This record gives sequence, structure tokens and C-alpha cells, in this order.
Amino acid sequence: MSTPTQAFGVPALRDPHRAGLFSLVLRHAPISRVELARQASLDPSTIARTLRPLVDQGYVVEAPTTPNGRGRPERLIEVVATKHTAVGIKIGPKVISGVVTDLGANVLARGEEVGVPLAPADTFRAVAALVDRLLDSVPGAREKALGVGVAVSGHVDPDAGTCRFSPILGWRGVDVATPLAEQIALPVTVHNDVNALAVAEHLFGDGRNARNFAVVTLGPGIGLGLVFDGKVYGGAQGAAGELGHIPLVPDGPLCSCGRRGCLEALAGDAAIAAAAGTADVGTAMRLARDGQGRRAAAAREAFDAAGGWIGRGLAVVCNLAAPELVVITGEGSAAYDLLADRLAASLREYALEGGDFLPRLKVAPADADLWGKGAACLAIQRSLR
Ligand SMILES: [Zn+2]
Repeated sequence: MSTPTQAFGVPALRDPHRAGLFSLVLRHAPISRVELARQASLDPSTIARTLRPLVDQGYVVEAPTTPNGRGRPERLIEVVATKHTAVGIKIGPKVISGVVTDLGANVLARGEEVGVPLAPADTFRAVAALVDRLLDSVPGAREKALGVGVAVSGHVDPDAGTCRFSPILGWRGVDVATPLAEQIALPVTVHNDVNALAVAEHLFGDGRNARNFAVVTLGPGIGLGLVFDGKVYGGAQGAAGELGHIPLVPDGPLCSCGRRGCLEALAGDAAIAAAAGTADVGTAMRLARDGQGRRAAAAREAFDAAGGWIGRGLAVVCNLAAPELVVITGEGSAAYDLLADRLAASLREYALEGGDFLPRLKVAPADADLWGKGAACLAIQRSLR
């Protein structure tokens, strides 16, 4: 949001039709011109004419050919990902992490600032320093940078570039985009962290082939990003998607939000560790997988019960939004095998259409770059509009 884009981005993409085609090539590469024409509902000559400036400028090239088994190799095209870079930053409560990627969201460098204070002004100085360090660490990255995507946990208004409320950071009504853009001198795009993952899934993940899908993150909190008709749905002022705080049990356990019986209080990391009687969820996971005896059984039961609650939460999402695909990710997805059976049973039980229509569930294991890459995709997506 917010800063002028004239000096940045890809000039040839100011034409929205061309930007739309480029986006299709980027997301589905390598792709044949025939398939591109089908997906764009355009005739091949219009495709060729529209893409011409991008071919001339070296953004789109013929991909290395591979035999298709029918004798004639298909001619496929792809985007030259090295033409640009993007920076993605995740602002967490203890760590600010970041990556530099190319245009295809391939990570070129990573870094972090640990133990940063939570006061917004200090945080933004640390973010700016990290962006500088990251851009310096990859030759040419600064000159080719499209912008910086910033992912923040909580309610984020992407149009205003503000964090309206982040319980985990203790922020309320904080302007993120303006002070960062002043210090970084690149376009800054700010979004909720799970919505950033939804953008990443839409561009480069399983969401490429789904019009309506959901991204659910498991971990300390339980997050939701919704994509409707190919666009992230943020709701009024970006406040949609608080899956972790849907109330499931009247007078249930106390939640971090101050209410009782929320999904997060029943199936977040802290709830699982408490039910397993362990200090943290990692210990509970090891015990559930490798342990023997009553403590291991209690750990397995803790994950199983959490799976049941998460399945109920997903049933709410399905009944409300009918996604065709649910991508499950976040740090907590590492324990998905311990949750999966009960989650699926619970989803079948509570989703209105039951077995007739259920979304595909896809687990996308979280790596250390998950959130940073998602944030970088905010900057990449911005350049495609
Ligand atoms: Zn809550």
C-alpha cells in the first residue's frame, strides 16, 4: 500500500491485461501457449500480441523443451524469475525474520533480528536495518527490488497499511506502512500474516488451481486466510479470518483474547501441552510419537482431542464459505499426523454436507522461511496489479 510506485515495478505490467497474462505465466509456468489461451479465454494471436513487450524485454522466455510422449515436444513458456527480487518480513513478538526472494518466491537469502523491543518505532528501525542487510547480501538485489512485503499477526488493514489490533504484539492502531516506507525507500505492502500465506498459496502453492480456498495455520494461534474467487478476502478493515477465536465451548478454557472456549484455547499449542501435562507442545509431540505408558497415552489423547476441535472449527469454515481446498500449514502442522484421523472424522460429522462435499485437505509443512516467503509474495503480487 501507500507509497508511490512510479519508480518501481515492471513498466510493461501497467497494462492490466498484460499483467493478468504475466501473472498466469508466473503462477503456472512452464505453460503452453494453448493452455494459457484456454485459461485466459483469449485467442492465441491476442496472447502473442499482449505478451510481445514482455518477451522483448526478457521477462518471458521459451522453457527448455521436454518430450510429451507423443513425439512432438510442447513449446512451453515461463517467467525469468531472476529479473526482480522481493523482500518479505514477518514481525513476530520475539523475532523479526526476513527473506529476499526472486520473482518466483525462491529464497535467495534469509536473516533475522532477535530480541527486538515491541515498541513500534523500535520495531520499524529493526525492520529497516534487516531489509538493508538482506538487500546487501545478494548482489544486485537492491536494484532489482520490487518492494517489501510485511506480514503482521492480528487485524491488519492492507489498504490503510495499519495494524488495527495485534494482541500478540500489543499494538493497537499502529501505522506500519508509512514509517517503514520512509526508512526503506521501497514500496511497502502490509498484510495480516495468514493472509500473506494465502497470497503465497494463490501464486505458487496448491491454491493456484482453486478459485475458493482456505489456508489454516496451526500453532500457538489458529489462523485462517480465505481466498474467494481468486482474491484474498479480508472483510471489513482486514478483520476476517479469526478462526482461533470462534467460540466452541460455553464457559470453556480461558483464551488469550480474554474470552472463554475459543478454538485456540482448546486446540492451540498451549492447550495441547496443558492437556498432555508437558512443558511445551514439542515435548508432547515427542512423547506422543515415541513414548510408552500413561504419559504417552495422555499426549496422544491431547493431540487427538485437539484434532476433534480443529475439525469442528473447519466445519464452521466449510458451512460458511464452502472452500474447495483447505491448506493446513503453520508450525503446528508438524503434528498433523497426530491430529489427522480425529480432525477428518469431526469435519465429516459437523460439516453440513458431510461426505457429499468436503474440501480437499492438503498439508503444507512449515519451514523456517514460510512466513517470510509469504510476506515476499505480498510485494510480488503488488507488482502484478
Ligand atoms: Zn479467543
